[in-house]
Amino acid sequence: MNIQGVPALLIDGETVIGFDRRRIEELLAQSIIGCSRCGSKLRIPSGKGTIMVTCPRCGERFRAST
Ligand SMILES: [Zn+2]
Repeated sequence: MNIQGVPALLIDGETVIGFDRRRIEELLAQSIIGCSRCGSKLRIPSGKGTIMVTCPRCGERFRAST
C-alpha cells in the first residue's frame, strides 16, 4: 500500500500539519475561554490555577481558573 500526504489535525480551530508532537501537546495544554465583557475567545494555559487574564480586544481583566 502506498499512502501519500501528511496528516492534518484541527485542534481548537488551529491546524497542525504533519505530526508535530510538541505543537500538538502545546495546544492540548491550553484551554479556550470567552472574555466576560466582549465574548472574544482567549487561549490560556491549563493547570496554572487561578490566573488574571487581560483580554487583548477590550482590555477587560478578569480571573480565570485553569
Ligand atoms: Zn474582551
